[in-house]
Amino acid sequence: MSDKQRENGRRKLLEQIRRTGPIPRIELSDITGISRATVTTITAELLQNGLIREVPRESAEPEGRRGRPRVDLVIRGDSHLVVGAKISNNRLSLVLLDFAGAQIDTLETELSRATFEPQELANAVLNAVDQLAQSAGYTMADISGSAIGIAGIVDAAHGLVYWSPSLSQRNVEFGKLLTQTLGLPSFIDNDANLVAVAEKAFGLGQSHSDFIVVTIESGVGMGLVIGNEIYRGTRGCGAEFGHTKVHLDGALCRCGQRGCLEAYVGDYALVREAMTMPGADPNADPGETIEALLRDAKAGEATAKSIVYRAGRVFALGLANLVNIFDPQLIILAGEQMQSDHLYADPVIAEMRKSIVQIDKAPPEVVIHKWGNLMWARGAAAYALDNVSEIALSELNEHAA
Ligand SMILES: [Zn+2]
Repeated sequence: MSDKQRENGRRKLLEQIRRTGPIPRIELSDITGISRATVTTITAELLQNGLIREVPRESAEPEGRRGRPRVDLVIRGDSHLVVGAKISNNRLSLVLLDFAGAQIDTLETELSRATFEPQELANAVLNAVDQLAQSAGYTMADISGSAIGIAGIVDAAHGLVYWSPSLSQRNVEFGKLLTQTLGLPSFIDNDANLVAVAEKAFGLGQSHSDFIVVTIESGVGMGLVIGNEIYRGTRGCGAEFGHTKVHLDGALCRCGQRGCLEAYVGDYALVREAMTMPGADPNADPGETIEALLRDAKAGEATAKSIVYRAGRVFALGLANLVNIFDPQLIILAGEQMQSDHLYADPVIAEMRKSIVQIDKAPPEVVIHKWGNLMWARGAAAYALDNVSEIALSELNEHAA
């Protein structure tokens, strides 16, 4: 067995045990296609290094049978702790998981504003992680790694934020800065990608190999899973659904370009349109402005109705383009705000279905999955688990060498 094969085998088995444990060695071999002998060798290594443990089988078989007691394998939860965090507008949401993926504690804290200097934001994350660790009876030193989801354009592999509405600067090596500030390996990704990670790990995507998550918050994001893997593009800025163009020389987007889908569908687009209505108060709270707009639309007020209707149609057009390009099994519309209900509405989905390539087979299923910020943080934590597992496995290599 080459080093590479052994490394892949370890990764595969650890993932499988986390996903389906308690699990016997024979079943691990059957599911992963790794030979029984290799499963025995690798699981012995993982046991020796404290990453997994054996538990007696809870079995319906009659007692008193001869032979060795049957055992299953599970992840040793206490071997590592990870933190996942989601940075959103004015809010930081964190979750602490053990190595088996079990949730230990959560924390939600307000941020003083939406946009920060990079070091200031890293300090805010440090304070929150420290507080979460303490409230769960641990210290920072007990945590093996963290991952943070942030809105914007992120090169996850290099920990680089090209642009984010949460940061006052472009091209920030935010992964490195967090690693230094927190004093533990820290990873970042686009927040919508982490929702897709979470859907794949423990949500609606578990049984699908090819699906798309569209997130609706103040902006519009997307996570793309192709062949069971997150697709991030070659520069880390793929799947930017919110910045696909829907209008020539159109409305100005937060990204600085014109005609982006987000500039017609996002919160700020609705606020901009609402400000064109007679009697609009330019100093009104944006959240209240949107609520009032949606309320007026529901009540049948013509201008409000046409603004909301247009946002829905543009969104439907964007979804149809996604289907026409990727032909996924499933589209998950994920968001937590009730005020996005107009985008989840049946007429929007019907409009999308009209605009996709028509064949004699059912179109992809569209489901709505409303996530709280803590579930986004769980996606980040799942990403942290992946990365901390990699680190733990690479340490095994060093010991073996
Ligand atoms: Zn844009």
